[in-house]
Amino acid sequence: MINKLFKSLFFVFIISVLLTSCVDKKEVTSTSEEKNKSQQSEEIISEIQQRETFALNTIIKIQLHEAPEFSDQDWEQTFAILSDIEARMSAHIDTSEVSEINKNAGIQAVKVSDDVFNIIKRAKEVAEETDGAFDPTIGALTKLWQIGTEDEHVPSQKELDQAIKKVDYNKIILDEKTYEVFLEEDGMSIDLGGIAKGYSADEVFAFLKSKGVTRAILDFGGNIVVIGAKDEASDWRVGVRKPDRMQFSVFASFYANDEAVVSSGDYERFFEEDGVIYHHIINPFTGYPTDNGIRGASVILKSSMQADAYATALIVMGKEKAIDFIQKKGLEAALIYSDMSSFHTFEDERDFRLEK
Ligand code: AMP
Ligand code: MG
Repeated sequence: MINKLFKSLFFVFIISVLLTSCVDKKEVTSTSEEKNKSQQSEEIISEIQQRETFALNTIIKIQLHEAPEFSDQDWEQTFAILSDIEARMSAHIDTSEVSEINKNAGIQAVKVSDDVFNIIKRAKEVAEETDGAFDPTIGALTKLWQIGTEDEHVPSQKELDQAIKKVDYNKIILDEKTYEVFLEEDGMSIDLGGIAKGYSADEVFAFLKSKGVTRAILDFGGNIVVIGAKDEASDWRVGVRKPDRMQFSVFASFYANDEAVVSSGDYERFFEEDGVIYHHIINPFTGYPTDNGIRGASVILKSSMQADAYATALIVMGKEKAIDFIQKKGLEAALIYSDMSSFHTFEDERDFRLEK
């Protein structure tokens, strides 16, 4: 557990170093005259205001680079968005709305709050778009593997075979009028782990903007959202981690402005049993962690929720289907393969650069 926490801390640190190096440049180039001007006119300050918390199983780091002065209360309000989402959407919290849906699988429909309904609806749509590569009913399988907990282990083939039958997004019944969700079969289970972090980043993004924040970096583990540009001269330069479980380094970097860059990879959560590594992204058709040559996927979109779901789906699809999907949807995405070669469709202005 401590090992895992250390690993994720280290990851955030690496990404932060890259982002902070951009910040340093900004601080050097902005003059005190400019600072005074912005302070006087809009009470916007350009000193970095930064806080961290742990939520949604990830270290959440928010850096405001141009914003009104944030009080403790403003920060509490920001982080309350995350704890509220987690309390209602986590399949690991017994009292959450998602757990209530799961407990009532095959029994009855459960009325949920608007955003829980909408995220499940969106997750089901992504499942349809990706032919089930992304499937929010993956819970029947993730419950067996328990990756990231003290009880992580390789399930028996019999258990996996039975659980695969319980993974089917078509059996999520949504009632648009009553906001009720029903899982048709006993033993089905929703797990929003592949999309909820993205959703929460969108919510925090909207809240910060409503508070007058004009430049910021939201670092939610593999989900990065940037507000505005780094400064008037340049967009933010965002780094993507190299898919290496032992060492932490930046694989590539590129520019982003007022959008989400979401990365998924087989290096984020994993365990080893009898010399074999098992990771947290599960192929719904085999029941096993994916092993198809794609180690990492990154997607750039306005919606972090959407990018989050797509990034997870691309890992599951395998090279050919993933490239096909990216091209069909016209997505700006990058794939990193096992041999550390890569593919991307980022616009030229992003200046996609491999870090050696
Ligand atoms: P991410 O880190 O966004 O790629 O999401 C990984 C998490 O999504 C896992 O920890 C599971 O909770 C969940 N998950 C794993 N496999 C799938 C899948 N095939 N479809 C949807 N969610 C998945
Ligand atoms: Mg995801």
